[in-house]
Amino acid sequence: NSFAALGLHPTLASHLSTKMSLENPTAIQRAAIPFLIDTANPQDVFMQAQTGSGKTLAYALPIINALLSCPDKIDRESGLFAIIIAPTRELANQILGVLEDIVRCCHYIVPGIVIGGEKKKSEKARLRKGVNILVSTPGRLSDHFDNTEAMHLSSVRWVVLDEGDRMTELGFEETITKILGKIKSSSKLYRDRLQGLPTKRVTILCSATLRDDVQKLGEESLVDAVHINT
Ligand code: AMP
Repeated sequence: NSFAALGLHPTLASHLSTKMSLENPTAIQRAAIPFLIDTANPQDVFMQAQTGSGKTLAYALPIINALLSCPDKIDRESGLFAIIIAPTRELANQILGVLEDIVRCCHYIVPGIVIGGEKKKSEKARLRKGVNILVSTPGRLSDHFDNTEAMHLSSVRWVVLDEGDRMTELGFEETITKILGKIKSSSKLYRDRLQGLPTKRVTILCSATLRDDVQKLGEESLVDAVHINT
């Protein structure tokens, strides 16, 4: 019952215990991490987990694990590999904080955020400089998709929709569908030939509940998804 036993890279597992004081994975992490780090068998996931269950690390660690394990060293120039979408700025900031804590052990992997609340120009500059894992809110991400040539989507391997139930409560379904359509049409073939990354895009929908509107969001965003809960 340790992070190393789940198959995480030793650098990452030791960083979690020595620098973040995280010794034992939570139930959702034990269920999701072995599945999501198996990048040779990429599959969509519906992750049913309450806030506070450790779901952020359950999806974030496998993403960072793959980027860290890639034999061709990933850095900010390598491309955008993951887009995490959260319903609120507050949650997006929390997720960024978690990513920043993790990448202290692999500082060449660059997380970034676009959530509004600052000038679009500075967000654009950040995207242009290069971000490997992008945290965003639906409206602002959609804005950037519409107006930014800095948004290169052809390398995106993971799309995470966090707090799917909040997303539907806030009426974001249509924006999400539009975003996913855009990503889908941009990343059909991976030309970068990076090893150890999923060979096809993985979409992860997190939600505490299985309400009808969330199921519908799942039907629209996931293909042959595995349901992971605890
Ligand atoms: P989350 O469900 O992702 O919002 O996480 C809730 C809280 O649990 C956060 O404060 C995390 O730092 C903490 N947490 C996540 N994973 C673990 C773990 N394996 N051991 C102890 N605390 C954890």
